[in-house]
Amino acid sequence: MIWFCQLIDKPYVGKGRWFCAILWLTVLVFQQPAVASMTSIDNVRVRPSPERTRIVFDLGRPVEHKVFALTNPRRLVIDINDAKLKTPIPDLDLDLRDTPIIAMRSSRREGNNLRVVLDLAEQVRPRSFVLKPILQYGDRLVVDLYSDVQQLTPVVQKADQITRQMRDVVIAIDAGHGGDDPGAIGPGRLYEKTVVLSIATRLHELFERELGFKSVLTRKGDYYVAHRERTEIARKSQADVFLSIHADAFKTAEASGASVYAISQKGATSEAARWLAEKENRADLIGGVGGVSLDDKDDLLAGVLLDLSMTASLSASLEMGESVLKSISGVNKLHKKHVEQAAFLVLKSPDIPSLLVETGFISNPGEARKLRSTAHQQKMANAIFNGVKSHMSDQPPAGSFLAWKHHGESERLAVHVIERGDTLSEIANRYRVSFENLKKVNGLRGNAIRIGQTLKIPTT
Ligand SMILES: [Zn+2]
Repeated sequence: MIWFCQLIDKPYVGKGRWFCAILWLTVLVFQQPAVASMTSIDNVRVRPSPERTRIVFDLGRPVEHKVFALTNPRRLVIDINDAKLKTPIPDLDLDLRDTPIIAMRSSRREGNNLRVVLDLAEQVRPRSFVLKPILQYGDRLVVDLYSDVQQLTPVVQKADQITRQMRDVVIAIDAGHGGDDPGAIGPGRLYEKTVVLSIATRLHELFERELGFKSVLTRKGDYYVAHRERTEIARKSQADVFLSIHADAFKTAEASGASVYAISQKGATSEAARWLAEKENRADLIGGVGGVSLDDKDDLLAGVLLDLSMTASLSASLEMGESVLKSISGVNKLHKKHVEQAAFLVLKSPDIPSLLVETGFISNPGEARKLRSTAHQQKMANAIFNGVKSHMSDQPPAGSFLAWKHHGESERLAVHVIERGDTLSEIANRYRVSFENLKKVNGLRGNAIRIGQTLKIPTT
């Protein structure tokens, strides 16, 4: 108002002062009824119910109000404009049992405004509205307190755990050699790099189609990838298993059969294995140009550290290796009846159970003929797939979808928390439930979902 008078002072010099004096008087007169129209709050009622606690302020007339929360300690503030309590809160004898309210108090602030403060035992989600008079009730201000489940930390953590419990087992598939490194060369210029890329790609497709599995290829074409890079790809994909696919060669054409290798800390366990290890490791010198020497120096130090953490993954590798070997025996002769151990660089992934599968001897004319055929390549991929799948289903990694299946689905942890990029149809497909059923169970009308939203997955 002072501002207004200063403003009009300019054009009405002299007369303006009178005008302002009259204006002030008018304001004073009009302010009186405003004080008189202050609302009386006749009563305050608190009603707990299973889903919420309702606080009702019985008013003389509609009011303007504001509700907001404060923390440390947890409080809810209800500011009501131009209002005063007919009876002080302590005299209202409110029953606060079965409510989140510890205590209720009031104070007057900024002239005629009333502030009601609720001390809370737990976090609440408030909802407030005014009600018009009906029957015996006059104007009312209602504040509902809902228990704020969303913000309780343990619940959020549980949802997070559920997401992780439903994760896929990640299989990193490594097609050996590539590019300038052809690997072993068989009769009719059959290259190991070509055969193993075909088997690896087929294996990748099998895992990608299998519920509970996800797969990543370390190379997708005819190019060279350094050994360290191959294991880096696996690690970045958070792989549970690393499978390196190769084909054998030997000085004599008679050598035949498939072999499965796991890492050995002490190096090769047999003369043949040591020879193979040297041959496979030499590939980095052929294909890896530039940066290799630096990588090798790192390898010396890293190698020592890695060896320490490999003990655990080694026993897992050996068990999985036996399962794969058993499965391969159905489609191919075996070179050795047990999993062999060798110091292959590509197997040196700490904590990732790793296997190197020699799918047969490309140097043996009979096996080379088989390895060249796509039908046999598919059979070999199927065999490796079944061996790994069977082992992983028996001993699923903690927190995986397979682990949930393995434990009889009894926990009914069929909940999916929406992540970026998820679509309803993709989720339905992933959990093998019908799209319509998924929508029905979750009460969804459209196809819209949002990140962080929790979906129930029908289990049968
Ligand atoms: Zn090889």
